[in-house]
Amino acid sequence: MIHDAITLPAPHDTVRARAVHRAEYPVVLADSVEEAVKHLRTVVPDQRIALVTDDTVAALHGRELRHELHRQGVVNTMTTITPGEESKNLRTAERLLDWLADSRMRRRDVLVAFGGGVVIDTAGWVASAYMRGMPYVNLPTTLLAGVDAALGGKVAVDHPRAKNLIGAFHQPTAVIAATPWLATLPARHVRAGLAEAVKKGVIASPALFELIERDLPEILALELPILHRLIHGAATVKCALIDRDPYEEDLRRPLNFGHTIGHAVETVTGYGPVLHGEAVAFGMACAARISHSRSWMTDTAHTRLLTVLQRAGLPCDRAHLPAPVHPESVIAALDKIRLIRDGRLRFVLPIDIGTTAVTDDVTDDEIRQAISRPPHPPTTRNTERADTAAP
Ligand code: NAD
Repeated sequence: MIHDAITLPAPHDTVRARAVHRAEYPVVLADSVEEAVKHLRTVVPDQRIALVTDDTVAALHGRELRHELHRQGVVNTMTTITPGEESKNLRTAERLLDWLADSRMRRRDVLVAFGGGVVIDTAGWVASAYMRGMPYVNLPTTLLAGVDAALGGKVAVDHPRAKNLIGAFHQPTAVIAATPWLATLPARHVRAGLAEAVKKGVIASPALFELIERDLPEILALELPILHRLIHGAATVKCALIDRDPYEEDLRRPLNFGHTIGHAVETVTGYGPVLHGEAVAFGMACAARISHSRSWMTDTAHTRLLTVLQRAGLPCDRAHLPAPVHPESVIAALDKIRLIRDGRLRFVLPIDIGTTAVTDDVTDDEIRQAISRPPHPPTTRNTERADTAAP
């Protein structure tokens, strides 16, 4: 191959490097495993597949997926990790890297992350590191992963100092969900996933928020056609938001709504006892309380948000969190995050359903009060709570 000769600049001219990377990938919601694998074949026509899942997903859905992969001629090898946030760390990632090397995976082979956000974040980070980056496809099996974690290419593992501290941006080649996988999801994880969908309604889509308010009983009852619409709507909102800023150059992102306090709660409880979605729900409730106390958030929006979280059986108050959380330990964890970042702690505060503001002037006292506030009075539409009570 003949390239044009490269002219050398004058000795003191600044040399400029340029690396522009913009990815585009399909997000597919299949109605069967057979259909999901057909889509997978279109994006991975002849590469070998390294399938990563967790023990629970492997036991429930692994055999059927591998049978279908085999039937459609996709060569694959599989490994599992221990389920839960406790696995999202460098030790698991290192074990997966060893496994890829031992399985002689090549740079153009494909890692497939089959599971919830923990599998997707961990395997995605491993894919970003193995041979300086191998392609990967996400097959989300939780509601949370379908509406959020599988999209956007933010991959990471946790560190004792902060959640997602070790991470990268590595965009997937495709995201393919199959609604039948959701049918086995425990109620607690349905509610946790719903928190990330509620978040997207509050920050960017009154229509999505209304869908959740209206169809909440059917969502909690895992009615697959409604779940399909919910995932489709929430994924659309997330894709539109990341399209504006795919590599998070602007740290004032509305997608972080509920995550400032939420991540701190996960850190102080040791990653696991409080599910990510539960922590985000609590973080959203606290941010709403701060915003409402400042008279930034309308009464109606404040009530609608807290009501929908309560109806979904999500923790709005400290007393409803599955593990004890002391306000001072959250404030100390937030201080560490502030130091790691640029000395500022950004809060996304809701103003109305569909509108937020980002500020870095929230005081420790406001945080303390928002966390310690006594339980929100029960709402008149609190009927779902009884059958979705905390496990
Ligand atoms: P998870 O991956 O731990 O899954 C929850 C539990 O459900 C696990 O025990 C799993 O084994 C089980 N499970 C998964 N699929 C199942 C199924 N179909 N049937 C029965 N059980 C099933 O948790 P999650 O809530 O999916 O994800 C949380 C993680 O996602 C957090 O680490 C969070 O930080 C991350 N996250 C990442 C992003 C991102 O942009 N990368 C966004 C949001 C959340």
